[in-house]
Amino acid sequence: MSEGSRPVVLETVAAVREAMASERASGRSIVYTPTMGALHAGHIAHVDRAAEIGDVRIVSIFVNPMQFGAGEDLDRYPRTLDDDLENLGARGVPYVFAPSVAEMYPTGPSQTVVSAGKIGTLYEGAARPGHFDGVLTVVAKLLNIVQPDVVTFGQKDAQQLFLVRRMITDLNLPVRVEVIPIVREDDGLALSSRNRFLDANQRRAARTLSIALEAAASAAERGLDAALAAAQGALMGEPLVDLDYFKIVDPATFLPVDDRHKGRATAIVAAKLGSTRLIDNEMIHLG
Ligand code: AMP
Repeated sequence: MSEGSRPVVLETVAAVREAMASERASGRSIVYTPTMGALHAGHIAHVDRAAEIGDVRIVSIFVNPMQFGAGEDLDRYPRTLDDDLENLGARGVPYVFAPSVAEMYPTGPSQTVVSAGKIGTLYEGAARPGHFDGVLTVVAKLLNIVQPDVVTFGQKDAQQLFLVRRMITDLNLPVRVEVIPIVREDDGLALSSRNRFLDANQRRAARTLSIALEAAASAAERGLDAALAAAQGALMGEPLVDLDYFKIVDPATFLPVDDRHKGRATAIVAAKLGSTRLIDNEMIHLG
């Protein structure tokens, strides 16, 4: 397919299986990017990277009801399929899987659920009970449908990335994960499909998340307490930021580090601006 033409849109599991089987039979490797659509430059970084590491790219666009809790933003989650297809076509992506909810859950809500375990109940999982079970279950289904050689996941959703890797290890899923770095706005705000909900004042205040992460990174050579204090200093100054958590976790376990921990760690932050929940993270080095 030439660049600029729209991707082939596959709406059924059977159509994906058939298309991927034919690509595989031709000896081509498959790189898959799962998304919920409302695509931005962060998602585009995935498909651009995918072009470098494999032969055939496929992107799924599916807003998975199972990972949204009651009272969350499932109904208002942005759906921009037409623009998404245009963007993916412009990057030469040949296939999009855009199933309906009924296609993904034909017999109603999944009775078989992948449990994200203890780490799935912390941080994002504490704020959104059941969220990561919903994520892992749909990711397992999607991987079984597409059967890619490589799947891309963003560092932006650090806890999700940790849990997906853990599932792939625990369940021996035959796929390699390619991690895509966080794409940010010029002022540091991590791109997110939810940023469009911020009004002008919230948008300005949203910079505070990445500023707090930077402050923690700069102070980290002086140890954990210094890093946490620096982040808190940045966050306290912005009344529009309703902080949920700022934690520094061990990348190997995703549990909070104590002050004996030296070396690489992940600073993670979540906050609400109005009714919009944002998350961000950064690798830091504790001295
Ligand atoms: P979503 O559509 O939000 O489910 O995200 C689909 C994929 O894009 C996930 O692997 C996310 O981690 C990744 N992603 C989201 N935002 C960004 C970003 N700013 N930079 C890079 N990847 C991202």
